[in-house]
Amino acid sequence: MLSLPKKSLLPFTEDHEKFRKEFGEFLDKEIVPHYMEFEKNCCVGKETFKKFGEHGYGCMWLDKKYGGQERDMLYSIVYGEELNRRGLNGVLTRLSSDTVAPYVYHHGTEAQKEKWLPKVASGDCCMVICMTEKDHGSDLANIETSAVKNKNGDYVVNGGKIYISNGMVADLAIVAVRTDPKAEKPHKGISLLLMPTDAPGFERRLLNKIGLKSQDTSEYIFNNVVVPKENLLGEENRGFYYLMEHLQKERLMGSWGTLGMAEYAFELAVQRAKERKVAGQLLGSYQHWQYELAKAAIELDQARSYVEHLTMLYMAGENISTQVSIAKYATAELSFKVSDLGVQIWGGEGILRDNAIARQFVDTRHYRLMAGTSEVQLGIVAKALGLGK
Ligand SMILES: Cc1cc2nc3c(=O)[nH]c(=O)nc-3n(C[C@H](O)[C@H](O)[C@H](O)COP(=O)(O)OP(=O)(O)OC[C@H]3O[C@@H](n4cnc5c(N)ncnc54)[C@H](O)[C@@H]3O)c2cc1C
Repeated sequence: MLSLPKKSLLPFTEDHEKFRKEFGEFLDKEIVPHYMEFEKNCCVGKETFKKFGEHGYGCMWLDKKYGGQERDMLYSIVYGEELNRRGLNGVLTRLSSDTVAPYVYHHGTEAQKEKWLPKVASGDCCMVICMTEKDHGSDLANIETSAVKNKNGDYVVNGGKIYISNGMVADLAIVAVRTDPKAEKPHKGISLLLMPTDAPGFERRLLNKIGLKSQDTSEYIFNNVVVPKENLLGEENRGFYYLMEHLQKERLMGSWGTLGMAEYAFELAVQRAKERKVAGQLLGSYQHWQYELAKAAIELDQARSYVEHLTMLYMAGENISTQVSIAKYATAELSFKVSDLGVQIWGGEGILRDNAIARQFVDTRHYRLMAGTSEVQLGIVAKALGLGK
């Protein structure tokens, strides 16, 4: 990926490399030829999830008894890198299998696990996570979507969610709802419900984003949606804590994703410097571009070292909750900055929608907002410095 020689301390084995090769071949054959179609359709479609599942690429981390392969997180990192190096930014199959399904695995009942996890692994079920509301994004603790028990003890849900990734293809949504409006603190009154998207009263619509076109981001509306009581995930009013519990890994894996996007943008920029002649001279022979690209290479190398370091700490069981905010902030900002540099060196061609560098530019922009904005990450770091509350 990076033009500079890369060495990693991560314990990749021959098997990880074999997986890298096989997975890359799968992407080249099954996904890459359709990617522009996905971009046009604003969706990768359910059949893409199914393809990943059929080839054994759904929930690779999961126990074999639920349809997984019990593979370590390095496989997931390789999976992400191979998507990134092909610019397949909108293929967020991993969000369902590696980010959302673990909620069921860690907090679900045996019946919930048996019912849903094999289907997620096979690609028959796409799961999404629904936290954000129109009036409550960064201030998640104050969400208002209500879940009131009816006489059977089932939950009647009213309200809505917004910016739901994979929202149109989703079969099962984990929805954060307010179950205790009188909780002494707002975050103590939130629960997570497993809501099938074919439930009566459930509506959704596609949002028209500037980038990440093939990734269908949606708005959900709940109008008296009845969710059976057995679909409560974990304990009532513990939902906020579950969300926070998963954040470390989500931000770490998210940092790998944005780093990969930055590296791909960089590769496109270097390629241009080596190929494009202006006034008879290759762009890469101008000192200006040499320095700009060298500076980007240095920042990318530093970011990669940091993300690898955090991965080692995480695998050793260390708490890295503040550091993942540093990584999330640094890689999200860097991916946008390097993509912007890429557009600049590509010149006019760089803004044409079908050009990969143009997609990197608009796609990376979303990551400064999603999964906790850059400002939210800075706030966490400031708090660790003893500043603010
Ligand atoms: C592409 C995409 C996919 C997403 N996918 C999902 C999903 O699958 N599920 C889901 O639940 N959500 C999802 N989100 C929502 C995302 O997590 C929210 O957009 C994000 O949390 C910000 O919330 P908001 O949009 O309401 O912005 P706001 O919270 O209104 O923030 C607006 C601005 O104010 C800043 N700000 C907020 N708080 C502070 C503060 N204390 N101090 C200073 N500045 C502050 C923010 O950084 C931002 O710049 C997605 C978003 C995007 C863009």
